[in-house]
Amino acid sequence: MVIDFRSDTVTKPTQGMLEAMFKAKVGDDVFGEDPSINELEAMVTEMFGMEAAIFCPSGTMTNQIAIKCHTQPGDEVICDESSHIYQYEGGGIAFNSGASVKLLAGNRGRINVEQVATAIQPDDPHRAHTSMVSLENTSNRGGGSCYDFKEIKKISSLCKEKGLAFHLDGARLWNALIAKKESPKQYGEAFDSISLCLSKSLGCPVGSLLLGKKDFIKKARRIRKVFGGGMRQAGFLAAAGIYALQNNIERLAEDHEHAAQIAGVIAGKQFVKFVLPVETNIIIFELDESITAPGLVSKLKEYNILGYAISQNRVRLVLHLDINAEMVKKTIEVFNQL
Ligand SMILES: *Cc1c(COP(=O)(O)O)cnc(C)c1O
Repeated sequence: MVIDFRSDTVTKPTQGMLEAMFKAKVGDDVFGEDPSINELEAMVTEMFGMEAAIFCPSGTMTNQIAIKCHTQPGDEVICDESSHIYQYEGGGIAFNSGASVKLLAGNRGRINVEQVATAIQPDDPHRAHTSMVSLENTSNRGGGSCYDFKEIKKISSLCKEKGLAFHLDGARLWNALIAKKESPKQYGEAFDSISLCLSKSLGCPVGSLLLGKKDFIKKARRIRKVFGGGMRQAGFLAAAGIYALQNNIERLAEDHEHAAQIAGVIAGKQFVKFVLPVETNIIIFELDESITAPGLVSKLKEYNILGYAISQNRVRLVLHLDINAEMVKKTIEVFNQL
C-alpha cells in the first residue's frame, strides 16, 4: 500500500465516476455541441450566480486566459509573491500577455486591502498601468490557508472603485468553501472572474473552469482556441466533473480532519521546527538542521509514504480523495516511530 501525499492532483476516478464518464453524451465542443460540457458550464454558472463559464484542460490555462482577457501588454498584475500564477505557470504572465507583475509579501499567501491600495500605480506615464488584482484561495504555498471573506470584500470594493479586474485563482476554492462554510455565490458576487480546478482532490482526470460575465467568456473562448485548448468530445471529462461536484465536495471535510490529525503528530517531533497552521487539506512543515527535506522524504519512502520537498527544509503533505482513514492511521504510526 503506497500512501501518496505528494499532491491532491494524484487522485484517480472511482468506479462511479468512470460509469458516469462511460455514459456521457458528447459532441464537438468547439462548435458548442457537447451536451455534457454545456451541462457542466451551466451547473457552475448557476452555482456561483455568474453569467457564463468555459471548460478548459487545466487551471494554468484558465488563469492565463483570464490574465490575457483582463490585460494589455505592459499592464501590471497585482498578486502575492507566492502565487501560482507567478511562481508555477512558466512565466506565462509575460509569455502570453506581455504583462508585468507587482508582487506583494502577504501573510501565508494572502494579501490585504492596504497592500493592494499602495501597490496600484498612479496615473503617470512613467508607470505601468495596473489593470488587475489576483487572489489565490486557498493558498497553496500558504499551506492551504483561507482568506477571511471580509478582506476579499474590501479588495473587491477597491477594485471596483479603481476600475481594476478582480480575479480569483480558486484551484482549491472547494476546500475553502467547506472549511469556512461559505457559499459559491458570495464569491460569484465579489470577483469578475474565477478559476476552479476539478482535478485536485476530487478524482477527475482533467478539467478546470473559468467563470465570468458573458462578454468575458466570449473573449475567453477565442483565447482558449489560440492557446490550443479547444477540445472536441471532451464531454467524457465534463461528466467526471459533474459527478465530482455532486459526490466529492462534502467529503473534503474528511481530508481537513485527517490533515489536522497528522499535523498534530508532526508538530510534536524533535526534528520539526514548526508546522504552518492547517486550515484545509495541506500540511507544510519546516525541519531543523538534523535532517533535510529531501532526506525526510526518502526516509518516508522506505515506509511507502510519499511526500514532497518544496524546499531544502520544508516538506508538504496533501490529503485527498485517495487517502482513507486506514492510511492516515498508518502514517501517524510511522511518524510516531521516527
Ligand atoms: C494546481 C493549481 C493551479 C492549476 O494547475 P494545473 O495543474 O494547470 O491545473 C492553479 N493554481 C493553484 C493555486 C494550483 O494549486
